[in-house]
Amino acid sequence: MYRMIARIVAQKRILLPVLFAVAVCFLVVQRPERSKAAGNADSVNGPKVIVLNYHKVDYMNHSLSVQPPDFEQQMAFLKDNGYHTVTPHEMYMAFTDGAPLPTNPVLITFDDGYADNYTYAYPILKKYDMKAAIFVITSLMGKPGYLTWGQAAEMEASGVVSIESHTVNHGSLTELTDEQVRYELTEAKHDIEQRLGKEVEFLAYPTGAYNLHIASLVQEAGYKGAFTVRYGNMDRAANFYAIERVPIFHTSDTFASFLERLKFVPLFERIGWVKN
Ligand SMILES: [Zn+2]
Repeated sequence: MYRMIARIVAQKRILLPVLFAVAVCFLVVQRPERSKAAGNADSVNGPKVIVLNYHKVDYMNHSLSVQPPDFEQQMAFLKDNGYHTVTPHEMYMAFTDGAPLPTNPVLITFDDGYADNYTYAYPILKKYDMKAAIFVITSLMGKPGYLTWGQAAEMEASGVVSIESHTVNHGSLTELTDEQVRYELTEAKHDIEQRLGKEVEFLAYPTGAYNLHIASLVQEAGYKGAFTVRYGNMDRAANFYAIERVPIFHTSDTFASFLERLKFVPLFERIGWVKN
């Protein structure tokens, strides 16, 4: 049944209205077995971690800017509904070494290292006892609108935020020479490690661009995993160099969009849309 619908969707490219109708039907049919935190339901591959992807948290009217009150509402929702945040390292240890995961695990990530992550998101994360990872572009640190190394160090030391790598210059890695890719990966990792006195284990691909060869260079550079902008979630069967995420945007109804994205992940996977 699921496969049949997936084939129809793939062949006919039936768009949102039909897909939404199908999604609603499935949701209604399956509601009794679904927990509140449906996106984290255990599967044959064990528990899933939902990886949320943010960029800016500020008052700009832009899809990549989630407004601070909206961000707070989302964190409060996670807290009130039994979700627990994990760091990239905790997720890695759970899936590679069998370390325990909390119930309904969520990994909150921010790309690019905007200053507003410190100004607006960090106090809210602390207030709700949440952890997050920020992927910084090392050449932009301290530039207007971006985090300073001092802010990064403070957040890292607090245990609330893990600072990870988003390369030196944020160029699409698939468009660079191998030599340039190696520089982008190793220099950013080394720079953060030197300045913050920590091991940098994870990368977020700039613009999301990657392929198998790039992934092998990421591994070679000493990273334990890398995050894409492909839509999906994470379990022990997933490729650690192609970790999928759920992007959270500012929309006309940001909270409703957030809830849909939080809860519809496994649904989309089942009907074969996201994985195509
Ligand atoms: Zn980016």
